Amino acid sequence: MVDQIRQFLKHHRLWLGLGAVAIPLALLLGLQLKWLSRLERTSAIAEKAWLSNYIEAVSSEVEFFYRAQAERTLNVPDELFGRSESKMAAHLRKKTVEGVRGIFVARFDAADGPWDGLLVFDPATQDWVEESDHETLFAAIDIALSPWEILANKGVLLTSHNMTVDEKDPSNRIILSPVSDDACRVLGVAGLVLDTDYFKDDLLPRMIEKSLPKFFDERTRRNLLITARDREGQAVIGPSHVFEHEEEVVDGLTFVFSDWTLGLGSRGTTTEQWARTNFLLNLSLTVALAIVVLGGIVFMLRTASREVRLSRMKSEFVSNVSHELRTPLASIRMFGEFLRLGRVQDVERSRRYGEYIETESRRLTQLINNILDFSKIESGAKTYELEPTDLDEVVRESVQTWAVSLKHRGVRLRYEPPPARIPEVVIDSEAIRQALANLVDNAVKYSGDSTEIVVFLRRRGDRLDLSVSDQGIGISRSEQQKIFERFHRVGTGLVHDVKGSGLGLSIVEHIVQAHGGEIVVDSEPGRGSTFSIRLPLETPGREQPAVDLDGATRLGET
Ligand code: ADP
Repeated sequence: MVDQIRQFLKHHRLWLGLGAVAIPLALLLGLQLKWLSRLERTSAIAEKAWLSNYIEAVSSEVEFFYRAQAERTLNVPDELFGRSESKMAAHLRKKTVEGVRGIFVARFDAADGPWDGLLVFDPATQDWVEESDHETLFAAIDIALSPWEILANKGVLLTSHNMTVDEKDPSNRIILSPVSDDACRVLGVAGLVLDTDYFKDDLLPRMIEKSLPKFFDERTRRNLLITARDREGQAVIGPSHVFEHEEEVVDGLTFVFSDWTLGLGSRGTTTEQWARTNFLLNLSLTVALAIVVLGGIVFMLRTASREVRLSRMKSEFVSNVSHELRTPLASIRMFGEFLRLGRVQDVERSRRYGEYIETESRRLTQLINNILDFSKIESGAKTYELEPTDLDEVVRESVQTWAVSLKHRGVRLRYEPPPARIPEVVIDSEAIRQALANLVDNAVKYSGDSTEIVVFLRRRGDRLDLSVSDQGIGISRSEQQKIFERFHRVGTGLVHDVKGSGLGLSIVEHIVQAHGGEIVVDSEPGRGSTFSIRLPLETPGREQPAVDLDGATRLGET
């Protein structure tokens, strides 16, 4: 059971590793999506609250300005109130006020004193004004005073000295401050009549500007749309017409000018659009990051599993090669000993022993050649000597030599020459012979009970096909892709019983590619295989093409 689990983990480690990363990543993405959409909602609300805060700040600045003016001007000393007009005027002259059309003092028990009830001082002319010249002003003040007058007449005691604002006449807005005696009885009222033009053209724009840097950076300020409207809704600041969605927050002023509104929005994008853009940007960044992480993990796992496979194949290679070397060497030593000791009298027998020694030595040479070649290829030191060659002759000679020794092992190796003479081809004949030897060797090794191997050479248009065909065990389609990889050996069936290094085909492929050709396999399990070396008839040129052997090595130059 434990072994089964271990095997399962071993075979599916790539997928398990991927799952171990992908599942938490998908969960994280889901959560991120949730958080981001919540953030989208709250950030829109927060942004609007921020805009409201700004309007409040402007409103507070305005209030602070007028309260400061009123406090400075309206605290009339007791001893002056209701006494001499000229002393009062002198007192008011000393005050500096801004944005005020008139300062007035009203005494409700005027009948007892020198005052004529209401006195209005003009800070511009620094003198009292006549009612006949400013009837509406006096009327507005009278209306504002009336509640106070009632309080005074009724003898109501003041509990606080808070200022009040009267805005019944929008062009004469008034700040009032009650004056009381020691017993808190209302004696009169001092007040300011505000200058609307000053507020509109000077104070409000100034306060708007003053608060801006505390709330918005330079870039945001450029896109900000600020409007101020009077009680009729007429724009006094900002464009006269704005779309409804552009004014995102609209709020009234407090204290004075309370029927005016300030509006704030941004040109082009609304807060919701801005939040949406942020949401999409964040989401795409997160998705991109997840893809990169996932890609990286897949790449890492692939590389790791490839490395594991390669190292396993390398250790198999070492054991295979040692076996391949040890067995024939032991036989060669044994037969050599027999011959040396003269124990074999029979001529036929000693010929057979000699032949065996020769065949095995040749095989060993081929194995060692393969290993040496492989190491040259790996280090990029493998070079080829290309020259025009009659390939037909090279193949014929090689097959003849091998056929003799194979015949004694019961294998029939045949050469089917091309029907017509073929032109010379520029090749390294030694290298091509070695490639052919590897293919024939494989055909012998993986032929099972079948004993017929055919080598044929054909011209196909502008290329030559040199093929080795056997009727052996064949190779499944999925394995056909892998057999050219170094150290790769098909891991099932007969192959287990046949020793090999797993280098033969990778060397063949390298040699063929260095000649500008390709190696193809046509095989079916149980029916045999045909490996074909396709060589172009065109000269590949002095410069040899760089060949990538499993992505690891580069070919050197001649
Ligand atoms: P090896 O030393 O194992 O023969 P090769 O690189 O020559 O190494 O071949 C790789 C694998 O391809 C072999 O282990 C074998 O499984 C498969 N193979 C090669 N030639 C044949 C063939 N003619 N018939 C069946 N399988 C073959």
